[in-house]
Amino acid sequence: MDGKVYLVGGGPGDLELLTRKAYRLICEADCLIYDRLIDPKILEETKPTCEHIYVGKENRNHSMRQEEINQLLVDKASVYPLVVRLKGGDVYVFGRGGEEALFLREHQVPFEVVPGITSAIAGLAYAGIPITHRGIAGGFHVVTAHNKLDELAEIDFCAMAKSEDTAVFLMGLTKLPEIVSHLMEAGKSGDTQIAVISHATLPTQEVLTSTLSRVVEDFRRQPLSSPALIVIGGVVGLREKLNFFEEKRLFGTRILLPRVGNQASVLAEQLTRLGANVCEVQTGFLKENQDALDSLDYRNYTHIVLTSKNAVQYFMNSLHKNKVDLRMLHGIRFAVIGSATRAYLEEFGIYADLMPETYHRDALWKLLEEHLKPTDHVLFPKGKALNEEGQELEDKLREICPTDVVILYENEPMEQAEPTEYSDLKNHSALTETQFDLAVFTCSSCVRRSVEAIKESQNRTQIKYISIGEKTSETLRKHGIHSVIQAKQATFESLLDTILEQADNQ
Ligand code: SAH
Repeated sequence: MDGKVYLVGGGPGDLELLTRKAYRLICEADCLIYDRLIDPKILEETKPTCEHIYVGKENRNHSMRQEEINQLLVDKASVYPLVVRLKGGDVYVFGRGGEEALFLREHQVPFEVVPGITSAIAGLAYAGIPITHRGIAGGFHVVTAHNKLDELAEIDFCAMAKSEDTAVFLMGLTKLPEIVSHLMEAGKSGDTQIAVISHATLPTQEVLTSTLSRVVEDFRRQPLSSPALIVIGGVVGLREKLNFFEEKRLFGTRILLPRVGNQASVLAEQLTRLGANVCEVQTGFLKENQDALDSLDYRNYTHIVLTSKNAVQYFMNSLHKNKVDLRMLHGIRFAVIGSATRAYLEEFGIYADLMPETYHRDALWKLLEEHLKPTDHVLFPKGKALNEEGQELEDKLREICPTDVVILYENEPMEQAEPTEYSDLKNHSALTETQFDLAVFTCSSCVRRSVEAIKESQNRTQIKYISIGEKTSETLRKHGIHSVIQAKQATFESLLDTILEQADNQ
């Protein structure tokens, strides 16, 4: 097969800094070959059939040699139509992309290059440092600090010492003392400003600013980990004014967010946009009951009750699958539990007739009690109740009028899913390696399935437990967590406000 290889730049770290073209190719790839600087979250965007191959090079411990990677590209192109070779930053900035392209050319494998945003420029920007600035730096040098033998590369330090241009060193962390001493020996002033930027553009970004004469000592006291950039020049001083990224309201806050389902949640996205370091752990998955609504005659019903966005989603999926024309629902009144469910239903062109003022099952029940007559007939498509409380509403509805409950989906614990790294939460690397500031719970099942592992792995005095509502708080208390911070209303907006308040108080 004549496959094509795309050499694609994956950007500096933050996945939103991928180009549209890179993103499209990742979504379409039959085989994705990626390295250490790539956030593995991007793998979730690939097709289910896409083969993932990690060829990461740890520092000094090359897990796959360059020659092997070159050959791998050729081999995979003979098997798959579309191979994506995804590299950190830009393809041709110290990524050995040129070697891969030449090898492909030699073997007559068609290829294209998709440039990426390089860390050498974007990493500085996220640290509040413009790589050039009128009157301060009229140009820049981007150099690698290493040569092939892992020694300090041949660099014209004399020219660099004389120039006002910004100097950016990649792969330079272990060579910091040598870089500094060479520059100072070549005449660069000890007062010259320098910054070390680690994990640029990521929520774990850390920056050390100093001067050439002090930096080695400062770095000893505040060591940073790779990947890191070293920037030297007057532009470093602009960071004080231009540091937009680390000023984000939740920057530096580490949030643990147990969730159900394998999709990144809207809450996680919002928190990430505010700068938080969010770790979602999957505690369960929703199993769709495909045939649930197959044989229903909608003409029987006067009301449909929907108590979650998931219920709306699976209800609509089912209508679509069964080719039920929406006009079949003509005249049926819709009752929803709250504004998020209502808004989601509106996306399908249905405007709910009934919604209680507070988001609560009891409030919905009171409202329905006022409206329903014994001659009405309710359809209640929902998720399978996980406990008796989830059953209450349907029992009460049945006391007024005929009510058909249809189970659209079940929330299953992870152990019953395909084994993944999440199925054993106790050994989940995020839990064992990171101390979180906040653990945020959006449902009782998330608490039951994760809280013991969290209690075991986290320092109790440091982590705060936040809950979306009374039921979830109650479950936390049952598990021995008594200082629970609860959102004022059981909505995601209110939960977000609560998280922001807590982060401000940290
Ligand atoms: N092609 C890449 C560079 C690959 S060389 C690019 O264009 O960005 C690897 C080096 O890039 C690392 O040692 C480090 O110096 C730098 N680097 C890449 N991503 C980085 C990040 N998020 N933060 C800091 N440095 C980064």
